[in-house]
Amino acid sequence: MPIAYKRIVVVGGGTAGWMAAIGLATALPGSTVELVESEAIGIVGVGEATFPMLREFHNRHRIDEADFLRATNGTFKLGIEFRDWRTKGQRFFHTFGNFDDLTGPACLWGQYRRVNDPALGPLSEQCLPSVMASQGRFAPPPAEQPNLYSYAYHFDANLYAGFLRGIALKRGARRTEGRIVEVKRRADGGVDQLKLEDGRVVAGDLFIDCSGFVSLLLGRALEEPYVDFSRWLPVDRAWAVPSEPSGPGLTPHTVATALEAGWTWRIPLSNRIGNGHVFASRYIDEERARTQLLEQLDGPALAEPRLLRFTTGHRERFWVHNVVGLGLSSGFLEPLESTSILLIQRGLEKMIELLRPGARPAAAAVANYNKGMTRVFERIRDFIILHYCLTERRDSQLWRDMASMELPETLDFKLHAWRQTGSLNMNGEEGFEATSWLAIHAGMGNWPVRADPLLAEVPFEVALQALRQRRDHYAAVVAAMPTHDAFLRRIMRSNN
Ligand SMILES: Cc1cc2nc3c(=O)[nH]c(=O)nc-3n(C[C@H](O)[C@H](O)[C@H](O)COP(=O)(O)OP(=O)(O)OC[C@H]3O[C@@H](n4cnc5c(N)ncnc54)[C@H](O)[C@@H]3O)c2cc1C
Repeated sequence: MPIAYKRIVVVGGGTAGWMAAIGLATALPGSTVELVESEAIGIVGVGEATFPMLREFHNRHRIDEADFLRATNGTFKLGIEFRDWRTKGQRFFHTFGNFDDLTGPACLWGQYRRVNDPALGPLSEQCLPSVMASQGRFAPPPAEQPNLYSYAYHFDANLYAGFLRGIALKRGARRTEGRIVEVKRRADGGVDQLKLEDGRVVAGDLFIDCSGFVSLLLGRALEEPYVDFSRWLPVDRAWAVPSEPSGPGLTPHTVATALEAGWTWRIPLSNRIGNGHVFASRYIDEERARTQLLEQLDGPALAEPRLLRFTTGHRERFWVHNVVGLGLSSGFLEPLESTSILLIQRGLEKMIELLRPGARPAAAAVANYNKGMTRVFERIRDFIILHYCLTERRDSQLWRDMASMELPETLDFKLHAWRQTGSLNMNGEEGFEATSWLAIHAGMGNWPVRADPLLAEVPFEVALQALRQRRDHYAAVVAAMPTHDAFLRRIMRSNN
């Protein structure tokens, strides 16, 4: 079998590095995959909520769900509950479920709006996993309807990297411990070798930069410029702290609560709660942000809060010469919709697609890779901005600025299309599907200005009855499901 790159070197052993090592060692058995990491530097160790696509990675690499949950103190995630984003006191769900037909006379949200019956409750009661999340219940979709809804996980990011490491080593990847102190370049600008602190040298043909925020190869060595999104997404710091489990317990969802100058996350793991406050330092000082986080904890903090600093955006190019950036080294979007690991996976899969044929990808293919990754970052950026720009809050400067900001053209267009025509305009490579956009529009009370005349083809009483039945059916189905806690205990025991 022809080989595109004989020696592949992965720099960094966080989630990105070990996912890359597993993917590359599996897909390219003719290449060597060597991962260099430094225990002394460590990994970022946050990133505890995921997106359903991670299950595809696990399935592809035969990673058993119960093994994974046990090893990482994992729990199930049906989506996110947003609190105080539209107005203080208001909440809504964005879960990984759909709202059936989104067009034509049977359009579910259209009929819901037309019927306009307060007794129906929020639109989310028409979405099965949202009802499950609100009731604290969990069961996977039935085998005969695997796409009825989807789910993801919460886990301890430190444990996950270690868990992936064990798998990668079994699949043939090698690990080299050591701090990289110098990056030696080739005449054409690419990377040739890495020099370690103790004098050893690691040479390679292709380098995957998973070195985290420091961006050792793509940023520092190759000086690839950074595209800064902070004019739209100004948060640039996070305090993170684990706490003892108490309060609502093992909710099968993340909670994201909007505060004065940012938002907090609450992520339930099987042994503790992960908490964080993501905030914009131009609107609040670090100390006040820390206090606001500690005031929100359900139980006592289990460690001192840790401060992380970042700039939202991405490297202009992700693949430059023989260096491909994955994970934080290539860019970062605030973790409101848990998309970082999703972006790692997207980049990894697209890269493997280009390497698998066994020839070095042509310049046009690399340019296309870079365009594709830029597009995914921009589309997810737009989706995250949507949560802020629709706010009705005016109680602090952050929210006043978010409500009046000039939007990226791509988002402006989508908002216009939705408001004027009820079209959830999707362009491919979105990251989030139409149903996710609908969940945020509905949750934030942003509806189209006029109804589609097609909706009237369904008699009013028929529409009302169908919506009532659907809501009651889901309520009954969910009432019969186990609690998340009980389901998790069962699955954890199952393979013992
Ligand atoms: C506040 C915050 C919250 C987040 N929440 C989420 C979330 O909920 N969901 C989600 O999907 N993502 C989240 N993320 C992102 C997530 O943490 C990362 O995408 C993920 O952990 C991958 O990180 P990484 O592997 O790119 O970098 P890291 O984990 O930082 O790994 C970098 C690696 O490079 C090595 N390294 C660096 N320099 C050198 C050197 N000189 N020599 C040798 N080795 C070196 C380090 O030792 C380490 O092994 C969050 C991030 C932040 C900051």
